[in-house]
Amino acid sequence: MRPLALVAVVGAAVTLPLLGGASAPAAVERVPAPVVGSPGIGDAYFPLDGNGGIDVRRYRIHDRYDFRTGRLSGRTRITLTATTTLRRFNLDLLLGVDSVTVAGRPAAWRKPNRHELRIMPRRPLAAGRSVDVVVRYHGHPDRIAWQGERSWFADHAEVAAVNQPHIAPWWFPANDHPRDRAVVDVRITVPKDKRVISNGRLVSRRVHGRLATTRWRAAEPMAPYLAFFTAGSFQVASGRADGRPWYHAVSTRLPPSVRAGAMSQLRRTPEIVRWLEQRLGPYPFSTMGGVVSGVQTEFALENQTRPVYAPYATGTETVVHELAHQWFGDSVALHAWRDIWLNEGFATFMEWVWSETHGEGTADARLRAYHAGREPSAWAFRIGDPGPGRLFDNEVYTRGAATVQALRNRLGETDFWAVVRAWLAERRSSTGTTAQLRAVAERVSGQDLDAFFSAWLLSGKKPAATAAMGLG
Ligand SMILES: [Zn+2]
Repeated sequence: MRPLALVAVVGAAVTLPLLGGASAPAAVERVPAPVVGSPGIGDAYFPLDGNGGIDVRRYRIHDRYDFRTGRLSGRTRITLTATTTLRRFNLDLLLGVDSVTVAGRPAAWRKPNRHELRIMPRRPLAAGRSVDVVVRYHGHPDRIAWQGERSWFADHAEVAAVNQPHIAPWWFPANDHPRDRAVVDVRITVPKDKRVISNGRLVSRRVHGRLATTRWRAAEPMAPYLAFFTAGSFQVASGRADGRPWYHAVSTRLPPSVRAGAMSQLRRTPEIVRWLEQRLGPYPFSTMGGVVSGVQTEFALENQTRPVYAPYATGTETVVHELAHQWFGDSVALHAWRDIWLNEGFATFMEWVWSETHGEGTADARLRAYHAGREPSAWAFRIGDPGPGRLFDNEVYTRGAATVQALRNRLGETDFWAVVRAWLAERRSSTGTTAQLRAVAERVSGQDLDAFFSAWLLSGKKPAATAAMGLG
């Protein structure tokens, strides 16, 4: 994400006890007693995000959206596996529920609070078995706020389900945490004069009466918040580069000169991906592209395979930032939101390297300007544990990038890029933590980096201007 206004968008964290998870008594029989899946996956920043006991493999979403009323209704088929034998489990959904089936049979359900959908199948879900869960739902996503977040963007002509850290529960039932990545297949039904854009590849568009249903499918699993759709009037362009299809879209509501400029920036996507591949290793996905929104005007977001940009923020560095996220954040997802600097620090650092290789000042100069120029009070903010309300604070971006450049100085060019490529290759299509990054860096470089990472991320103080801190 790259906010236009660097204002915290997330409300205060709530602390709720984790219910259920570990309450089953020790089983005597060989088959473990069915347990209750916990309502959270275990992220301290967002205790109700994700859910215990399930692993989603695929979401098949079919939503219908009414521009006049803002009403969304839909049906999502979720293919999931119980990781332990479950007598009930949860999904995350902020909309009203109409019905639930599990393995084709009606299941009892409850909404114990606005965010959680608790499902009680007729028979326990056996550990390790794959099952389809179908949820029908409806509501007005524009009226929904959760923990201070209003994630939905829509007006009479355009809608965008695009946000971070949360958007899925506004438009489909999800195991809403980056730890559970799944394949996403999106069908959206809107009036036939609108276009629909989503992740991956355009599969089909079927007109029926005054409506049209457009289907997109992304081949590689993604974190739920990276799934998106937008519908409206768009100018589109598509083609192939380096063996991969690309598809770009720009809202036709933008003035013609803005639209032309935005499209020419999007058209740099293959070139920027190639530049990133030279440094980071292979692009992780099979399709690429970008969307410039006419309704979501506050930030750019690294939606998997197809970032969504705000209309007046499509400078080249923003495109570099969102495409760098395809490696940092999308391919290697966060294990916990506390480590958000792993996403934003590396994406911002790659902007600095772009600038360095295009004659606009070195990344090292930016690090030194940052280190010299920060107010003493800014250092008190610990980017390694920013808290849920300051995930997208400017310091997470700039000190995150400064930390990466300081590591580059400390390790030297060869070892640094070897660390980056090893990290991305080893954690590809998985999640990563700061501790795991440090372990890779220590293994590749043979150096002890405990003091380095602590000073930059967690000390609450300005790191000393020493070689050990990457400032020799
Ligand atoms: Zn970002």
